[in-house]
Amino acid sequence: MIEVSHLTKRYGNHLALSDLSFTIPNGQIYGLLGPNGAGKSTTMNILTGCLAATSGEVRIDGVDIFEDPMAAKRHLGYLPEQPPVYMDRTPWEYLRFVARAKGVKNLAQEVDRVMDLTQIADVRDRLIRNLSKGYRQRVGIAQAILGDPDIIILDEPTVGLDPRQITEIRELIQKLGENKTVILSSHILSEVQTICDRVLIIAHGKVAAQGTPEELAAQLAARGMIAATALGTKEQILAAAAKVEG
Ligand code: ADP
Ligand code: MG
Repeated sequence: MIEVSHLTKRYGNHLALSDLSFTIPNGQIYGLLGPNGAGKSTTMNILTGCLAATSGEVRIDGVDIFEDPMAAKRHLGYLPEQPPVYMDRTPWEYLRFVARAKGVKNLAQEVDRVMDLTQIADVRDRLIRNLSKGYRQRVGIAQAILGDPDIIILDEPTVGLDPRQITEIRELIQKLGENKTVILSSHILSEVQTICDRVLIIAHGKVAAQGTPEELAAQLAARGMIAATALGTKEQILAAAAKVEG
């Protein structure tokens, strides 16, 4: 279980996270939903011990991440927003390198296991720079799950992918979520609705709402709000919205 209490982060004078509290039960797919600049990546960087909070507490299975970052990090795999994937290596070389850095046991076997799970074995010897964005994202997810961590944190795992690649990555996330805790961020409501058990909506560094997708839909409806996703030019969307009747 991950317990976040009263988390606050300032970058200089800028308040990026303000008194954020939430709990993530084990074994769920948990979504952080919010527009750009909401504080999703900042939250994930703090949860993974990559960034210090200004104040507040994060406990992973009872262990305070700030007091014992190494112990907490052993439970975690992380795909940051900008994955540190080395373009001039092959997936196999890169994963061996990460596995060694993580101190993974049975290195060759473990690299094979994550390549199978993320379905990248067929490109294991190609340079990462020559892979599609979808494959690169799988390599990024593969490095996150090396060592079989209980908690997998993925920052905007489907951003920049085409629809088919998005579907494939979603299926992979659902597979991982069958026996792990997965935390993912997204700015797309429909995405978190379809794959997450619980969602935290974050806006301007604060919790705007949280609950199951069904609870959130009910909350929005009760406030007379609807959520919609639109794709088109500004003119098309404004024209279409003007035609909607209440
Ligand atoms: P999100 O991932 O939801 O887009 P971020 O966590 O990246 O949001 O950013 C939250 C806010 O903090 C934004 O206003 C962003 O400009 C600011 N911010 C993020 N990283 C830094 C940084 N290193 N220095 C200063 N401001 C930052
Ligand atoms: Mg971000």
